[in-house]
This record gives sequence, C-alpha cells and structure tokens, in this order.
Amino acid sequence: MEEVKKLLDNFSDYIAYFSMEVGLDENLPTYGFGYKESQTIALLAYSGGLGVLAGDSIRSAADLKLPFMAVTLISKKGYFKQELTPEGRQIEHYISWNPEGFMKILPQEIEVEIEKRKVKIKAWLYIVEGSTDGKVMVFFLDTDVQGNSEEDRRITDYLYGGDEKYRLKQEIVLGIGGVRLLEALGIRVRKYHMNEGHSSLLTLELLKRHNLKVDTVKGLCVFTTHTPVEAGHDKFSYELVGEILGDFISFEMLKELGGKGHLNMTLLALNLSGNVNGVSKKHREVSQKMFPSYEIHAITNGIHSYTWTHPSFRKLYDKYLPGWANEPEILVRAETIPDNEVWQARLEAKKELLDYVNSLTAGDFSHEVFTIGFARRVAVYKRQALLFSDLERLKKINKKYPFQIVFAGKAHPKDEPGKKMIEQLFSYIRSLKDEIKIVYLADYNMGLAHKLIAGVDLWLNTPQSPMEASGTSGMKAAHNGVVNFSVLDGWWAEGWVEGVTGWSIGPQPNEKLPAEEAYRRELEDIYNKLEYVILPMYYEQRDKWVEIVQNSIAKIAYFFNTHRMMRRYVTEAYF
Ligand SMILES: *Cc1c(COP(=O)(O)O)cnc(C)c1O
Repeated sequence: MEEVKKLLDNFSDYIAYFSMEVGLDENLPTYGFGYKESQTIALLAYSGGLGVLAGDSIRSAADLKLPFMAVTLISKKGYFKQELTPEGRQIEHYISWNPEGFMKILPQEIEVEIEKRKVKIKAWLYIVEGSTDGKVMVFFLDTDVQGNSEEDRRITDYLYGGDEKYRLKQEIVLGIGGVRLLEALGIRVRKYHMNEGHSSLLTLELLKRHNLKVDTVKGLCVFTTHTPVEAGHDKFSYELVGEILGDFISFEMLKELGGKGHLNMTLLALNLSGNVNGVSKKHREVSQKMFPSYEIHAITNGIHSYTWTHPSFRKLYDKYLPGWANEPEILVRAETIPDNEVWQARLEAKKELLDYVNSLTAGDFSHEVFTIGFARRVAVYKRQALLFSDLERLKKINKKYPFQIVFAGKAHPKDEPGKKMIEQLFSYIRSLKDEIKIVYLADYNMGLAHKLIAGVDLWLNTPQSPMEASGTSGMKAAHNGVVNFSVLDGWWAEGWVEGVTGWSIGPQPNEKLPAEEAYRRELEDIYNKLEYVILPMYYEQRDKWVEIVQNSIAKIAYFFNTHRMMRRYVTEAYF
C-alpha cells in the first residue's frame, strides 16, 4: 500500500511495539459521539492501565518522531460497556464495531497455524499523528477473514475474553502473526518490544528465523514486565500448548526457555530479551526478587501530557509555559503561573465534572465542596472501599469539613470478588447517603477518565503494596493540579514528597511492618491526614493548597510523562 511505503521511507528500521491492548481515542477527533459513541468505546480496546499506557507511548513516539510502530489485536467486540443496577451489580454489554470508519484494511494476508489449521490474518492500519509531523503506524490484527472457520474468525473479537485456549490462540496471532505481518510489509525491525508477556511467542518465530540462536534473538528483543505477583503471569500447560501450537519448536527447547512445568510467558520473554525492565523503581525491586537470575532495569511509566491535561490547564500552560506539550520538562516552572489563574483553571475543570455528575444523577454536588476522586480498574488489591473502613469516623470528619466523593471502575467479567466489591461500595454509599454525597459513575473509560481525574480536588489511591506496579492515573491528576493522596506503592514512591507534592498513606517503602500493623497505619493516615491536614488546608489555607497544586505540576507532571519515558527507552533499551 502506497501510504505504508511512503511512511517507511522515513527511517531505515523501526522499533516494533507489541501490546495486547491499545487505547487510542484521542486521535479520533473527526468522529462525534452519539451513534458513533459505541464505536468509539469499542475502539478503546483496552481494559485499563496497560492499554492506556500503550496509547500514550504511541502518542509520545509520534510527537517525538521516533522510528516506532505498534502491533495489537483488533478486538472487534472491544472490552465491555458497564451497566450498574441500583444495587451495584455489574452488567456487561459487548458492542460490535466496524473498524472501517476508523482505519484501512491492508491487502497483505498472512497465516499462522493453530490446532494444525491454517488461520489467515489480515491487518488494519491506523496512523497516529503527532503534534509535530511525526506519524506512528498501528497495525490491528484481525482473523475475521474469508476462508477461516467460524471459530477462527472470532479469535480477535474479545479482549481478555474466553478461556485459556482462546487466550493462547490470541497470543499466537499477536506474537507469531505480528512478526509475519511486519515481514510481509517489508518492514525492517531494529527491536521487538514486548509490552507485557502476552506477545512473547514472537520470540519463537524469531528463533526459527535465526537458526535457533538465542543470542541473536536476545539482541532483537526488549521486554517490559508489568506484573508484580507470581500468579499474575500468563501460563499455559504444555498439553494445551501441544494441542494449539503443535510442534512449532521442539518441546525440549521450549521447556528450557519457558519453564519446566508449564509455559510461562514472562519467563519466555525474560530468557529471550537483551533488555528487561519494570515500570517503576519499586516494581523493579519486586520483579528482581521474583526473578533473581535476570538483570531487570527500571523505566518508570508516564502519561501523554497533552492528552491528559484539561483544556483549562492547556490554555494556562500555553500562555505561561509555551512549548510544554512537546517538552513537558518546562512544567517545572509552574510556580511562575499566577496563583489566581491556577485556581481558576482548577475551578473550571471541577465545574465541568460536577455539572456532568449533577446532570446524570440529578444530584446536588457543590462546586464549593472538597471533592475526592477514586477511579480505576476494579480489582481486590486496589481496595476501592478502604476509605469506608470506619464509617463513624468518616461522618465525623464530614461534619467538621464537608467533602463529596466520585467513584468509577469496571471489574473484569470473571472477577467475582471485584464485582462484589462494587456491590459492597454501593451499600456503603446507601448507608451514608443522608450525610455524605457519594456517586459511582458507570462505565469508566478514557472519556470519563478525562473529566473525572481533572475535576476532583484529591486523587485517592489505596492499593495493597506491592501490587501496584506503577499506576498512572495519579500522574494524570498531577497534570491538572489534582493532589495525590496515596499508598507509597508503584510510581508514588518516586513522586511523593510529604506535604509538598501530596501525602502518603501507610508505611514508608523501607519500613518492614507486619501486615496488620501496616493496615492500622494506613487507616490512621487516611483519617488523620484528611481531618487534620488535608481538609483544613483546603478550606482554611487556600494559598498553601494552591502551592501544592503548583507543586503537583512542577514536581510531578514535568517528570511523570511518556515523553521522558520514551526517551529513556530510546537511550537504554532501543539503541
Ligand atoms: C489511566 C487509566 C487507567 C490506569 O489507571 P491506574 O491508576 O494505573 O489504575 C485505567 N483506566 C483508564 C480509563 C485510564 O484512563
């Protein structure tokens, strides 16, 4: 295709970034909402942080004009749209969408073998245009091709859907199919970057192409791990692998590289990557302990600054810190922005959210009241309901200094404990309803995240340490002067300066406390800091509060962005 050929003239070789999910809504400005909304939602083929990170990495790569491209699955039925019953029971709706309105199908067709059948794969091309004239091609693999069996046509439908077998098939399409697609397009690849272990079967395809030389493949591969717990890594029994993948490569070799008992996708990637990294300094340490015989580096995650900055703050930065979007380091000078203008921008973002909340709920959320936000993928380790451990204390604090809370988040369809947690949260909301205003907004997605994160005053984060590898929503908050109040896990251990950039919850990273003691300290911090530090400052020392707002921008946003992160990948992993 002409378009691909022309773009390929820009560089001699490329970084090929493989990710199971990619969140790319920002680049679809030509498509409105309404009817198209369901399509837009589906195109956000992500379930949470991983896909948003992939999208932000791609956007920064485009802005920075890097020789970068991405490979993912089309996920034609997307993740799901969340409906919540009045009791907080989650109902999932899958919505088909047609990629035709958004991207172009490429003429190339490649094949992989699954269960000894040939499965044809086509690819859709989507081009992400940077704010400069940089462009990044994203290839969405699709098995819904004529000639494939009905079952095979569905392989690329559901993101994180189906059983293990379905997942393994998807990973064959992504890893092996992805490498073959790039070859069919005549693309020279400098490095294959695996964003999490889902794509690590690509290493097997590379081994075959390079006479089974492990060192050669290592020289070609970069791996980012995102999972801080053993149980989180994708694993498949060799029986299943034999059934689905066949004897693609000898089992002897496969077991040597992917683990004796079962095929561990993380181990496979570790054994075949010349460069491995975790997504925060703390996560690196945790990963290093889990895999002591590998050298693991840290490249702390970021977010795409422009994408996640509310228009009210974009305007302000354009006025006082021109050039910030493509050089977020400039945000370090946020202190030079007049306090009253910073405050006005905060009020504008807050008003937008609260007007939206009031329109949905016929509620009466007040612009004057301190607003706490909590929105992320619902998983038990994120402890969405921790704030409600002591309802009486919470009521007492609210009587002294009123506050209101906005929640959102989806649980994976098969995560029953996660779904129960939403229901439990709903019961707390009911029991507090005469005293504290709390709302749970359905269907958390990137569109809602834009409004929600920028519109609150405080961003609360209470994961069970060390389960949060990085976390990125707090970085989005900081770009909008929203103050972080968080457990010292993931990125916050690097961004936190007590009382300067925000506040911590619970033990410091170097304190080794028994679990019960740590938990007690967490609750103590949540309630005491809210009652005696955070709320009084907000209501009674507005100048000080605005200083923390400015520090969030100058000391967090300037650093925790994907422009810095991509530059680190370039100098430490790609070249
Ligand atoms: C940023 C973002 C996430 C990731 O948030 P974490 O704090 O890392 O959990 C998840 N979902 C959406 C829609 C986001 O925008």
